[in-house]
Amino acid sequence: MFKLNADIFETLSEAIPEGVIVVDKKQEIVATNTSALEMFGYDKEELDKQRLEILIPQRYHRQHGGHFSSFYRNAEKRTMGIGRELFGIKKSGEEFPIEVGLAPFELSGDTFIMALMVDITVRKETEQRILDLNAELEMKVKERTKELQHTVLELQTEVEKRKKAEEKALESLQRERELNELKTKFLSLVSHEFKTPLTGILTSAVLVGKYEKTDHQPKREKHLDLIKNKVHYLDGILNDFLSVERLESGKVNYKISTFQLSKVLNEVIYSANMLLKSGQRINYPENVDEIAITFDEKILTLVLTNLVSNAIKYSPENTVIDIKTTEASDTLLLTVRDQGMGIPKKDQKHVFQRYFRAENATTYQGTGIGLNIIKGHLDNLGGTISFISQEGKGSTFTVELPRTLSKIYS
Ligand code: ADP
Repeated sequence: MFKLNADIFETLSEAIPEGVIVVDKKQEIVATNTSALEMFGYDKEELDKQRLEILIPQRYHRQHGGHFSSFYRNAEKRTMGIGRELFGIKKSGEEFPIEVGLAPFELSGDTFIMALMVDITVRKETEQRILDLNAELEMKVKERTKELQHTVLELQTEVEKRKKAEEKALESLQRERELNELKTKFLSLVSHEFKTPLTGILTSAVLVGKYEKTDHQPKREKHLDLIKNKVHYLDGILNDFLSVERLESGKVNYKISTFQLSKVLNEVIYSANMLLKSGQRINYPENVDEIAITFDEKILTLVLTNLVSNAIKYSPENTVIDIKTTEASDTLLLTVRDQGMGIPKKDQKHVFQRYFRAENATTYQGTGIGLNIIKGHLDNLGGTISFISQEGKGSTFTVELPRTLSKIYS
């Protein structure tokens, strides 16, 4: 029956670019078009009456049998192998991916199935190439990301390094600036603070030369004392500048030892006595004989010398300067009290700043360095310094030393 219509089928199927194969209910091939023959590599006669399975790879035969029967029972037009990949097999045994559309039809009471087939090898290859390319691209992106992360890390380290270098450079610039400031200050101080004592020294030296007679000895001595005092003063200023420089650069080497407090006090008061104005008196502290302390002896001498000479300098004649020591549980307090001009309230917070001089002190010689230096040393050695002061009444400076101190006698 089908053969009767074979010509019509051939005419129609040859017009279709897809491969066309028609099978009967026994799955025997009853018609093919040229595209299908080319696709599978057979001649027409070779496929006629062959079972459809000849075109399906062996491993799908069983599965295919089941699919075919159920499809044949509820024959309807549809695409074959939805959700699965289908393969055909050529006469040469080569497998290839295939897409199949199924169209059942009836002819003279028999049901036939027409399969429309497209060889999708090229499409699959393209798909695979796209997948490969995607995978390759992903790999590349991953690699690049990794490289980028690495570069970012390197950059971060570099940035940090540069930041540190910048900070260091800024620090040394700051130090350089401070040093310059110090030099400028030094020069202006030298011209200002050195001029008066140097003129004094020169005058005294000239006068000493003029006192030739033996009975001029007291006058000679007076001028020699004046010269000595002024040289000491100038030496003090120079030492202060050197201390600032050493403190700044952290080059101070402290020498800690245990010594008698009285030894330092005697030395300080002995030197201070030479500076006393007429009628000024220093009250020596009580009960110091028993106190030994562990500290840097030179620094303690410097601290007390500064406080006592300030007390003398900023107090008028006929006043008393009190030095006291108080032992607390873990500290030793040393206080120097004067009845001098005091420090104006508004200036008090600046007193320990370098070069600071209170408004009422400018008529006195000074550099504004002493308190700054001793505070620096005390900070380094675990001590503190503070004061209370009332303008016109006097000041009390208190130094607190850590009690790495010990008493010789209990
Ligand atoms: P200098 O005495 O050389 O100016 P200091 O650093 O010793 O420098 O003191 C800083 C400033 O503190 C002084 O210029 C002065 O104004 C004030 N000062 C310090 N000690 C006293 C004091 N005993 N009485 C009044 N003012 C003081």
